[in-house]
Order: sequence, then structure tokens, then C-alpha cells
Amino acid sequence: MPQGQPRSRKAGLVVLTGERSRAKGVVWLVGAGPGDPELLTIKAMKALSAADVVVHDGLVSDEILELAPAKARRISVAKRKSRHSYAQDEINRMLVAFAREGLTVVRLKGGDPFIFGRGGEELEACREAGVECRIVPGVTAALAAAAGAGAPLTHRGAAQAVTFVTGHAASGLEPDLDWESLAKPNHTVVIYMGVSTASGIAGRLMDAGREGSTPALIVENASRADERRIVTTLAGLADAAAQVEGPALLIVGEAMALAIPGERRDPSGLSAETDLSMGPGFRRGQKT
Ligand code: SAH
Repeated sequence: MPQGQPRSRKAGLVVLTGERSRAKGVVWLVGAGPGDPELLTIKAMKALSAADVVVHDGLVSDEILELAPAKARRISVAKRKSRHSYAQDEINRMLVAFAREGLTVVRLKGGDPFIFGRGGEELEACREAGVECRIVPGVTAALAAAAGAGAPLTHRGAAQAVTFVTGHAASGLEPDLDWESLAKPNHTVVIYMGVSTASGIAGRLMDAGREGSTPALIVENASRADERRIVTTLAGLADAAAQVEGPALLIVGEAMALAIPGERRDPSGLSAETDLSMGPGFRRGQKT
């Protein structure tokens, strides 16, 4: 459908019904980063400060939500175990409806909107409705997890590639992934939403040939004050994942040999507590 057609038809309707013409609404799909408000981008802050409505999910902290104007309406569409949680279709319709009222809508998502964030579906819904949509990228959880642990996702001689995968399939079972490719050495695999399927995923990777001794890292609540890091191996991944309660990433790969276990107590990230200079070294060519 040619761009602008629905709008001009709508504009005609506004005149016919004698309604006051409204400002054009817009949907901003904004990445809120992994939790630490200091990891929010300046662009995200600007979008928030212009919001009439903020539609956010559960991973977004109160500190970040407070950056929206006091008069802005805040709507949580978080997944909840007991109460009604919004289906993706309902969220899409809500965004479009608010924008059609002429409002500036900020759809605030944890991490980056286009990394396992269903931002693509919301963008498509806006496109179909002829509603303007803008994207503000965010720091995805993998980047914060690696930074906090002092373990690079790529590392010369140890990790020539990094792959982000989901550990969750729509069926609720393990995802259908290219295990052969993920099992190749010198390759970092970051698993989002993989805590409950950790055992199956680790088994598949080992069946496909990845060594059980490959270093692995779990980071729970990356970049938050309650961040916790568990350093393990691929063979130990399932047991380690069983200790996790909050949102967590599983990271498997030789470069995770550099990871420092522990907790983060300083969310500003500026104190000596987060000095990563004393961690383990990586011996090139080490057999893992
Ligand atoms: N769009 C988000 C990912 C959403 S999927 C992003 O770019 O980061 C939700 C999954 O992301 C969680 O199950 C968990 O695996 C991961 N995750 C999100 N925030 C996290 C955090 N602060 N620490 C660790 N993992 C996190």
C-alpha cells in the first residue's frame, strides 16, 4: 500500500466530522539496556523525556521509568505468572491506538529492542497501520554480562565469532538450532532465555562435539546491583543454571576462561570493586 494513503484518507475524515486535527503520533521502540540506568543511551533518555505514554516490560527498572515526565502514563505489559499478561497482538494494537491519538509513545524494552525483544513485530504492526516508528538501540544483556565478568565475547585466537541464540522455543521445548555449527571451537555462544533448558542445550552442544571442559559463564542480573556470575564449564552448565533465579545469560566458549566469578555491589561501575585487572589469564592454544 503506498505510504501516506491511509493518512490522507484519515485527514479527510477529520475534516468531515469536524474534529480538531490532532498532532501526528509516533511510536519509539527504545532499548533500555540491561538494567543499570547508566547504560541507557542519551537518545533513549531524550525519547523518554518526550513521552506521553510509556509501555514497558518487566525488565525495565523503576529508576529508568522515573526519567519519563511525571504526567506520562506508564503501562506495564510485563509477563506475569498469575495475572493477565498482554499478548503480543494486544501490545501491538495498544501502540498503534495511542499513536493514532496523536501521542508520543515510548515502547521501552530491556536490552535492545531487536535482540529477542519482539521489536520487529511491533515495528511491522506500526508499518501496517501507517504509524511512524523509530528505533533507539540499547545495550543488549550479552554485552553487559561480558563486560561485568571481564570476559570478551570475541578474543584473538580464542573466539573468532559470537552467536546469540535463544534457549527457548515457541513450543516450550528446546529450540531447533544448528548444533554442529554452535559446537565449533573458538566460537562464543550466548544463550538468552536458556536457564530452564540449560541441561538440554549443554547436552546437544556436547553431542555435537563441543568439549565438556569448554569454559562457560552464567551471569544473572547483569549490570544490576544484584549481578551474580558463576564460572563453570559446559559439562557443569546445567547444575550451575539450577542455582539461578533472576534473568540470566549462559555463555559458552574458550574466551570465558577470562571470566571472573562473583557479585557486583557497585551499580555505578566506577569503584575499585569492579576492577577486572586481577582475573585469570588466557593461555593461547590452551586445550579446553
Ligand atoms: N532484548 C533483551 C533480551 C530479552 S529476552 C536484550 O537485548 O538484552 C530476555 C532474556 O534476556 C532473559 O531471559 C535473559 O536471558 C536475558 N537478560 C535480559 N536482561 C538480563 C540481565 N540484566 N542479565 C542477564 N540476562 C538478561
